[in-house]
Amino acid sequence: MTVVPAAGSGTVSTTCPYCGVGCGVLATPQPDGTVAIAGDPEHPANFGRLCSKGAALGETLSLEGRLLHPEIHDARVGWDEALDHVAKRFSATIAEHGPDAVAFYGSGQLLTEDYYVLNKLMKGFIGAANLDTNSRLCMASSVAGHKRAFGSDTVPVDYTDLEAADLVVLVGANLGWCHPVLYQRIVAARARRPDMRVVLIDPRRTATTDGADLHLPIAPDGDSALFVGLLRHLAATAALDAGYVGRHTRGLAEALAAAAPWDVARVATATGLDAEDIAAFYRLFAATERVVTVYSQGVNQSASGTDKVNAIINCHLATGRIGRPGMGPFSVTGQPNAMGGREVGGLANMLAAHMDFTAEAIDRVGRFWGAPALARQPGLKAVDLFKALGRGEIKAIWIMATNPVVSLPEADAVRAALAACPFVVVSDMNRHTDTMELAHVRLPAAGWGEKDGTVTNSERRISRQRPFLPLPGEARPDWWIVTEVAARMGHGAAFAYRGPADIFAEHVALSGFENNGSRDFDLSGLAGADYEALAPVQWPVRSGTAGRMFGDGRFFTPDGRARLVPIAPPPPFVPVPGRLRLNTGRVRDHWHTLTRTGKSARLSAHFAEPFVEIHPADAAAHGIRRASLVRLTSRHGEALVRALVTERQQRGQLFAPMHWTEQFASSGRIGALIAGRTDPVSGQPALKMAEVSIEPARMALYGFLVMRERPVLATDYWAIAPATGGWRAELGFGSEPPDWPAFLATLFGTAAEPQSIADARTGRRAYALLDAGRLRAALWVSPDPVLVARSWAAGLLSEAGLTASAVLAGRPGADRPDGGAIVCSCMGVGINTIVDAVTRQGCTSVDAVGALTRAGTNCGSCRAEIRSVLDANRLVAAE
Ligand code: SF4
Repeated sequence: MTVVPAAGSGTVSTTCPYCGVGCGVLATPQPDGTVAIAGDPEHPANFGRLCSKGAALGETLSLEGRLLHPEIHDARVGWDEALDHVAKRFSATIAEHGPDAVAFYGSGQLLTEDYYVLNKLMKGFIGAANLDTNSRLCMASSVAGHKRAFGSDTVPVDYTDLEAADLVVLVGANLGWCHPVLYQRIVAARARRPDMRVVLIDPRRTATTDGADLHLPIAPDGDSALFVGLLRHLAATAALDAGYVGRHTRGLAEALAAAAPWDVARVATATGLDAEDIAAFYRLFAATERVVTVYSQGVNQSASGTDKVNAIINCHLATGRIGRPGMGPFSVTGQPNAMGGREVGGLANMLAAHMDFTAEAIDRVGRFWGAPALARQPGLKAVDLFKALGRGEIKAIWIMATNPVVSLPEADAVRAALAACPFVVVSDMNRHTDTMELAHVRLPAAGWGEKDGTVTNSERRISRQRPFLPLPGEARPDWWIVTEVAARMGHGAAFAYRGPADIFAEHVALSGFENNGSRDFDLSGLAGADYEALAPVQWPVRSGTAGRMFGDGRFFTPDGRARLVPIAPPPPFVPVPGRLRLNTGRVRDHWHTLTRTGKSARLSAHFAEPFVEIHPADAAAHGIRRASLVRLTSRHGEALVRALVTERQQRGQLFAPMHWTEQFASSGRIGALIAGRTDPVSGQPALKMAEVSIEPARMALYGFLVMRERPVLATDYWAIAPATGGWRAELGFGSEPPDWPAFLATLFGTAAEPQSIADARTGRRAYALLDAGRLRAALWVSPDPVLVARSWAAGLLSEAGLTASAVLAGRPGADRPDGGAIVCSCMGVGINTIVDAVTRQGCTSVDAVGALTRAGTNCGSCRAEIRSVLDANRLVAAE
């Protein structure tokens, strides 16, 4: 692995590049070129805590796989040539076909300064609004819901409200895995305040279920019905705040009229929930003043996501539970700077600085930017944008820091559209992504640790991301790349920034320009602030304004009143016979399309291949055995993944993570299965709602491979992950390779003579190639899913003094316990160690397991999994 040269000594205060919690990170380059990572104890998002992903950031900084030089048509070129080419092709396309024939597709990974100049170039100087981002996939429904209710895209809650609440309702949010530090703050608050209650509303039993007093395993898309029914219940039990409603809202009568038919019985039918559980939740909500309702992708990623958001907000407005400590609706974002993108206007339906395409805002922004051709109407949202690309209406696209060939729905159609597009530019830090493969021009962008700018987290807190590494090769910051292209397109004067501080200053100025309190987003109090020293700060930041959003009951609608929105829940979903409902999401230790976390052996050890969770009864009905391979098929594509048979899933439903790409697996792109159905208001795709068929993928042989060098794999199924000192791979062979020795030679080399064993009765074989007691490669194959102690086998790559017989055995000797699959990434503790602590050593609590094994004693992200082992043991003991 390449060691990254350190920029210099000293600790740099920066921000985690993963989820929307936005934890502060202290990065300290070490003399050996590595970087020590720690949580920033001063940062108000995390007060020193990091989750498993954040703690492993130092393991993701190698230059392996980096794009280090610009390329045109696979040939290395200089920056001038690349930038001239991009500017020329975009200008020519605009001249010939008009500004709507070009598009930018950005990312919640971009810093606010990157986003700002991108938005300014497209909307101000190209004169179109075809700039959308992968944040459309993440939280667009929350934006739309906020705007319908508040007249502005305002998140009205702080993290401290979660700790002050007496009831936290988590809707469609697996916080335990996806926002772990925030979840740990709730867990800690609960430990301090035993009366605090947590309700989880989620179709799946997840890591977050562990910390909930009540889990409502709701039917997919049942959320609107549940909260419409709640509004009805609140009215029926005199739990509304008539004074607040009268002074600060409009629309209650209409919302209640829409809710009238939704009694508990009807809600139970629509949600699949037990009527008693629904009633218990309603009673708890009605009786608790300080309630925070947290929602995330389970709400947003739906064809009715905006209605779900408003159904939730309605309940808070109707009870006046907003704008005060410990209460409010709270959309938590998935990405580190989804919020910053929203702030600059980096979505196709926004103009700039939380202003829409109104005549007044168009005039104002046009004057501020001195823009000659300001866009006058919204552009195409992500799914529509790529459909227009497929129809040939968009003829040039620039994709930045994202991987739409993996993450968008109908991902195969997205790939075909890009393949047919006359001009595709991709700027990214990685040379090899599924999207980068289709680029005509590749631009090397700076990565985390090299970038300099700001991000905004889920609670509207702006933090600095500061560089602590030098720019490698010819990589450049995104803002620089955009401004250089803008200059070459003839707009140099408007993009003459010396650095991100200049851009931020302009962003601040625009936020306050002719604002006077009329717009929520206002940073004017930061004018002249020391950018380098900028401490985490929550907006709005304007003189004479203090306190929380909506604390005064004033909203950003024309009359200052919030709007309750009448909601008609969608009809129940009726699946096609034989099909199952596929839900998608994240796993604990991986991030998006594995471009960073896929570099860490530690993080990859938790889940090392793509999988689908299926209920045991569904597995039996479809002839699917544990750990076998299965084929998922929809109208749009297919995927080949491992079956994880578990009662966490409800019957009729599946769950698959969205992370795997063709760089890491033969066919693990889950986006290929999902229809491009979107919410009619927000344009957010229903990524949690695919209909798929599932069937066993019959394999003649299965294999598990560990190797020092990354192998080139071409078996019918393969999935590769890093291991300490090399790589590990799962293999599947549809049929026995006709020339087995030739196949082995592709792995071990033609001159190699691996030692082997074979069992003619079971068909199991194993091969090992050692070099002076160190393992170069080993392969175990079997007609059944291979029984190899994987953590042990992967660990052999970094051991000395090995013998072939010890390796070929496929599991450690009796003198050395097999820790099993990794549960605690921070401390490297496996499932077998935890089971042993519970079943043989008598541990009866998560803390006791931690004291014995150290599992769960660092970031806490794995404590729910430890709890499930304890619960399973209690069940066994009770039987
Ligand atoms: S919770 Fe984890 S992934 Fe999210 S910002 Fe904090 S350290 Fe990063």
